Amino acid sequence: MRLVVLGGGESGVGTAILGKKKGYDVFVSDFGKIKENYKEVLLINEIAWEEQVHTEELILNADVVMKSPGISDNSPIVKKLKEKGISVISEIEFAAPYTEATIIGITGSNGKTTTTMLTHHLLKAAGLNVGLGGNIGKSFAWQVADNKYDLYVLELSSFQLDGIENFKPHIAIITNISPDHLDRYNYKYENYIDAKFRITMNQTQEDYLIYDADDEAISEWFKTHTTKAKLIPFSLTKTFNEGAYIQNNKMEIKINQEEYTMDTEYIALEGKHNMKNAMAATSVAKLMQIRKATIRESLSNFQGVEHRLEKVLKIQNVQYINDSKATNVNATFFALDSMNAPTVWIVGGVDKGNDYNELMSLVREKVKAIICLGVDNKKVIDVFGNVVDIMIEVSSMDDAVRMAQRLTEKGDVVLLSPACASFDLFENYEDRGNQFKQAVKNL
Ligand code: ADP
Repeated sequence: MRLVVLGGGESGVGTAILGKKKGYDVFVSDFGKIKENYKEVLLINEIAWEEQVHTEELILNADVVMKSPGISDNSPIVKKLKEKGISVISEIEFAAPYTEATIIGITGSNGKTTTTMLTHHLLKAAGLNVGLGGNIGKSFAWQVADNKYDLYVLELSSFQLDGIENFKPHIAIITNISPDHLDRYNYKYENYIDAKFRITMNQTQEDYLIYDADDEAISEWFKTHTTKAKLIPFSLTKTFNEGAYIQNNKMEIKINQEEYTMDTEYIALEGKHNMKNAMAATSVAKLMQIRKATIRESLSNFQGVEHRLEKVLKIQNVQYINDSKATNVNATFFALDSMNAPTVWIVGGVDKGNDYNELMSLVREKVKAIICLGVDNKKVIDVFGNVVDIMIEVSSMDDAVRMAQRLTEKGDVVLLSPACASFDLFENYEDRGNQFKQAVKNL
């Protein structure tokens, strides 16, 4: 059997290694460049590869093709494969049949990484032999090849889910849905929503779907679709007989006739969005029958993930917060929502079709100055120019942070939450967040 892997990154190389181990004739083809460390791995494992080209004779003879999530369905080579009727799948679809482990799959527009890490943290604290993968860290396929975990917590993007046929998580989470990556979905929001819901399409009555019951797109989907999975909703505003909710500053989880209650003030993560993430992760912990004391301790010592509302430093009683991972309006909405002091807001970058008006009332209420950090800031200035007195354009992180310091007084907050991708001025969101942290430390 010939396995062709398109894309020689983390998921591609992981799939190649697993394929090789399972006896496939494996070939890796990357239209860009393959990183040196991955080339070495391919070499050591005697896996054939090519870069900066897709040689059709070596690809169109595949029995099965694994496409990395970064490659669009509209790319010419993928179209050709599909025309020939060759199955093009994602890494998780390829790898899942080779493990018996219980799979917890987490998708959504925002909060995937935080919820995945928190869920993993809870299960690991309970002493379970649990792996962490998908979009984070080491690829799932690679771990299936190398490790023997009893369960996996996987962060799954819509692109990973596009390429599944039989993949079925025992527990699925949809954290929320808001428009993102529409360029890959023919600019149709419903296509993107359908992609997210693929996480539940193979689930049975034995499985669970945990989801945000406050989310408009999710509620709409349920009006016209069903799933066999048992439903576990979570909400900030509603209550349930079976599900998770917040009432009187307490998190309540009610699942399978059992109840777990915890004061939200003891949950280390902050902000409404993180209460949602905590409800989702704790629901998994309850389903896995983790002890209450372990849940309590894990929720109170989980410090969050870098670049997500990360508290950097307090200088002259001004708190600097790095939320560089906020690459869309919805993430920034929750960041602004959780600010409880006058805020100098650093925003901007590559806008994926943002509607900033959703932020209007929060900006009016909380933002004292806006620092635009992008190549093209026109839209931000047009929307907020009449709302916020001070608007300044800068083109480097150092300038942004120095300017922010000048505009603050004791008790204020400086928030980097760009609502945009970072590619105009930075390599990626990590680079942007790291530059922010360095600039703050240099003050
Ligand atoms: P993802 O992996 O889906 O991108 P992250 O956990 O990395 O999610 O968070 C991305 C951004 O979204 C961060 O700015 C974070 O503060 C914000 N965020 C986290 N959880 C949620 C949520 N449940 N709803 C909205 N925004 C969230």
